[in-house]
Amino acid sequence: MNSCYLMMTNRCNMNCSYCYEREFFKDNLKDISEETAKRAVDFLVENHKPGVKARPNEDINICYFGGEPTLNWEVLKKNIAYCRSIEAEKKIKFGLYLLTNAKDLPQPEEEFFRVLRDHSVKMQVSLDGCKEAHDSTRGHFDAIVKNTRKITEALNRHIIVRMTVTPANVRHAFRSFRAMADLSCTVNMVPIVEEEWTEELIEVAKGEFKKIMNYYQKLSRMKPVRFNIAENCVNPAFRHCQVGSSMVSITVDGIVYPCHRFQFHAEPEKNWKMGDIFNGIERYPNFNGIFAKCYSCETNICHPCPSAFILKNGGRAPEYYCRWNREIEGCVRTQALEVRRYNENEVLTRKIDLMLEGLGEIQKCVKEQ
Ligand code: SF4
Ligand code: SF4
Repeated sequence: MNSCYLMMTNRCNMNCSYCYEREFFKDNLKDISEETAKRAVDFLVENHKPGVKARPNEDINICYFGGEPTLNWEVLKKNIAYCRSIEAEKKIKFGLYLLTNAKDLPQPEEEFFRVLRDHSVKMQVSLDGCKEAHDSTRGHFDAIVKNTRKITEALNRHIIVRMTVTPANVRHAFRSFRAMADLSCTVNMVPIVEEEWTEELIEVAKGEFKKIMNYYQKLSRMKPVRFNIAENCVNPAFRHCQVGSSMVSITVDGIVYPCHRFQFHAEPEKNWKMGDIFNGIERYPNFNGIFAKCYSCETNICHPCPSAFILKNGGRAPEYYCRWNREIEGCVRTQALEVRRYNENEVLTRKIDLMLEGLGEIQKCVKEQ
């Protein structure tokens, strides 16, 4: 076990129209306690196999999730500090991630930024694109962009913006990409599985992605731009999530599910509960059948989601979803390859420049002696 969504609270300060949590949590608006959050970390450490890494420099990833996790800031900041405090003794390196809507930052802001900076917490902000696209379902675009800018400046590094591409907002995909790339954020665009992608909508998506790729190509010659679809397209690797095996989620009460979304399925306790952090894991779900056709699929940009496939299509990838991935990949591939080639040449040129500079310095020293 090396990856976890740790739920800090069931409360949220927004009211998004498509939120699947709102109805579910309305009678259980609860925060995780300091003790449960700490126990969750210990549980992850106890269940971690030495040497198995979540990422090259991270043994265990924890993504602080909710509701809106920053609403439980007092517990969150203590938990972050706790993780870092046990790293040396446990010989574990944590990757700490905070997924926030960034509508309101914890106060005082200086302390919030200091904790994130001092403990190297990586940030992901949920923003559904340009103002028109975002405000149509979520609201508070201006406040979120203002806070996202503050975070980027205070941390002096990229933050990730995740945009769910839906039939309702796909017409704004290009403008949304531009807005997010101009904020110097890493842009992660993910198509929704639960809503049908008709031929007509896929054509609209292709038109938008052509414009995105033209802009991305020009922009990448001026500054580093990170865009998941273009990068994954030229980097063949099967990216299904490790849900229910190396990845789990832990609720505010310490119950372990395969991922945060499974607690919203029908009869979650009966069907999807894996155990709890106090008594351990009782069973592991088996999702192998769900990925059967994915193992031989040649699409690189897809990140198949078992939870959505189970909810929407009896555990199989809906055909319209696969078509979306295939068509969009076909549409972005040529330019994605060109950008990669350009970036590789740039790196090579910079290396040669540095070597020549070094040789010049050596020559200078030799002459002076
Ligand atoms: S496009 Fe379809 S078959 Fe291919 S990886 Fe994605 S979900 Fe699986
Ligand atoms: S099952 Fe879906 S929602 Fe859950 S972690 Fe995997 S990709 Fe994400």
